[in-house]
Amino acid sequence: MRIDELPTPALLVERAALEANLDTMSAALPGARLRPHVKAHKCTALAHRQHANGHAGFTCATVRECEVMAAAGLGADLLLANEVLDTRRLGALVRDGARVTVAVDSPETVVAAAAGGVREVLVDVNVGLPRCGCPPERAGELADTARRAGLEVRGVMGYEGHLMLVADPADRARMTGDAMALLTAAAADVGGEIISAGGTGTYVDNTWATEIQAGSYALMDTAYGAVVPFGQALSVLGTVVSVAATHAVVDVGLKSLGMDHGLPTIAEAQVWFCSDEHTTFAPETPVRVGDRIRVLPAHVDPTVVLHERMHLVDGDVVVETWAVDMRGW
Ligand code: PLP
Ligand code: MN
Repeated sequence: MRIDELPTPALLVERAALEANLDTMSAALPGARLRPHVKAHKCTALAHRQHANGHAGFTCATVRECEVMAAAGLGADLLLANEVLDTRRLGALVRDGARVTVAVDSPETVVAAAAGGVREVLVDVNVGLPRCGCPPERAGELADTARRAGLEVRGVMGYEGHLMLVADPADRARMTGDAMALLTAAAADVGGEIISAGGTGTYVDNTWATEIQAGSYALMDTAYGAVVPFGQALSVLGTVVSVAATHAVVDVGLKSLGMDHGLPTIAEAQVWFCSDEHTTFAPETPVRVGDRIRVLPAHVDPTVVLHERMHLVDGDVVVETWAVDMRGW
């Protein structure tokens, strides 16, 4: 099939860029040094590619991601890097033979993990992002609480998400070091083998973590394109549906693009704005009604989740179609 035959909007993944991104990251962080985060692509076919590149452990953001990964045969070592109060479905996965480690940052999440049948946890430590994570100085005490509840404490995690898009590489490296000083101090109090942290923006600088939880690197987006050397594999294919003297309109809008990192990008054009089903842009070279164009999203995760499938393409040829099968809750 050619991309001209796809109904639009359609999520495209450039095969060559994807493969280069996977190989670049696997060379930098081989084997267990990378625990790929599946929330960025939500696609078990893509996770199988990461597994084939040598990464057996994965990071998940939701219970459903864990379930779908396990059902796809990729449940050998899943980290749910979020706090979960209703752990019943996770316990069922563990009983069915998956290995699931869950983040805890409070006595309540420890109790929930043990009650639901989860056996292994990481103590989630706040390293500067005002989101989840206990204060570093409380981590040891929480680990003791978890062990008393019968849980195996595999170590710590601490996500420095506030640093991923720091523009100056030297600033990003220095701030990552400061954040990881908090995490390594907590790790000394907690014990265990794992120090899990990092993402696509800090994978080079974060030499303190034993494993990096990067996800966006595989498909990429324009926000990360400004700070890390991975290729833009992801785009949303659209059809030009209207052309005026000053601007043109493509059928890719808010409902097919994650917009929280800003406007999408169109090659050789100025993007003016997005509405529900449309992006209005000023082309530098004339476009015609019916032309197919690629719209590059600014943020990969909330873009992918709006689509049921992604099409792996080689130029204008669709070589494979993959379900975005980890969507939903
Ligand atoms: N770890 C956690 C807990 C996250 O929430 C994220 C992304 O938000 C990441 C790691 C890194 O992902 P990415 O490589 O897409 O920045
Ligand atoms: Mn993201």
